[in-house]
Amino acid sequence: MPARVLNGNAIRDQIYAELKQEIAGLAAAGIRPGLAAVLVGENPASQIYVRSKIAACEQLGLGSWLHALPATATTEELLALVADLNARDEVDGILVQLPLPPQVDTKRVLETVDPAKDVDGFHPVNLGRLVSGRAGLVACTPVGCMEILRRSGIPVDAMNAAIVGRSDIVGKPMALLLMHANATVTICHSKTRDLPSVVRRADIVVAAIGRAAMIEADWIRPGATVIDVGINRITDAAQARRIFANFPAKLAQFTEKGSVLVGDVHPAVAEVAGAVTPVPGGVGPLTIAMLMSNTVKAARLRRTRASRASITGVAAAKP
Ligand code: NDP
Repeated sequence: MPARVLNGNAIRDQIYAELKQEIAGLAAAGIRPGLAAVLVGENPASQIYVRSKIAACEQLGLGSWLHALPATATTEELLALVADLNARDEVDGILVQLPLPPQVDTKRVLETVDPAKDVDGFHPVNLGRLVSGRAGLVACTPVGCMEILRRSGIPVDAMNAAIVGRSDIVGKPMALLLMHANATVTICHSKTRDLPSVVRRADIVVAAIGRAAMIEADWIRPGATVIDVGINRITDAAQARRIFANFPAKLAQFTEKGSVLVGDVHPAVAEVAGAVTPVPGGVGPLTIAMLMSNTVKAARLRRTRASRASITGVAAAKP
């Protein structure tokens, strides 16, 4: 039986409907959450991502500001911009679109973002909170994967989970979230021995590798849930023919457009798994939805702290 397809667009719409209510509640209290996006250079993928994030803000009625800097921007220029955004009260969330150009000290820039406005969840303070299982701003893609599991009714408690990929922005926070949800988690990477047999033991597989269609059908335990984080654009005809040999619709898409998107999971996995996320239309929409959710959360937390401080006359504690 083919796997159930976990539709990220539908889950995103559910989340947006909930957020709209929360945003209306905040508006009634005179609060309009706002997101500032920092984009450096002309990377086409980054431009598309930032544009989609700004469009999502507009769709939900959030404030948004785009700060576009040339590819020659220096670390100091970015630090000054971030400091300015930290100081602006109307900015609740700061998003620095990665990757930054090589001359920029990315870590320094990310660590300068006020943790209370760190809607990407990349700041060490927020990472530390995640490690210790305290609420905070958590990286959008992994928290989006958890929303897919939760809202699709897929049990996590006591399940075996394998995550392929150990990046700071996906693999590691994903492992922590699954562990806090009582999964038994195995984190795999490029040095993992016999990766297929490790993946085969998992009830939940999360692929965050960046390699087109790498996870094959015979790596998957029948009935397992497979969350495909990877986004890979294929432009090579031979590679497209190899991956999509038995998927004529995808191959036709490639022939028509000269490129096609594929995840880190081979499409044949859907014949073995119990549930899969598609690419596109799976994890991607949730990443943006959770960015919106984090922006609203940051606004709520900041205002609550500020009002508590004004009532008590005590400066609000930084997170
Ligand atoms: P990184 O390149 O930072 O990390 C990739 C990870 O995969 C590394 O831990 C690496 O291991 C591991 N890896 C690479 N090759 C292999 C291999 N042959 N076997 C096992 N593990 C391997 O990528 P990201 O985490 O940033 O992104 C992963 C993918 O997710 C990309 O396709 C990216 O485009 C996509 N993405 C999608 C998002 C969405 O919204 N859907 C958001 C963010 C990312 P090692 O550490 O040993 O090098």
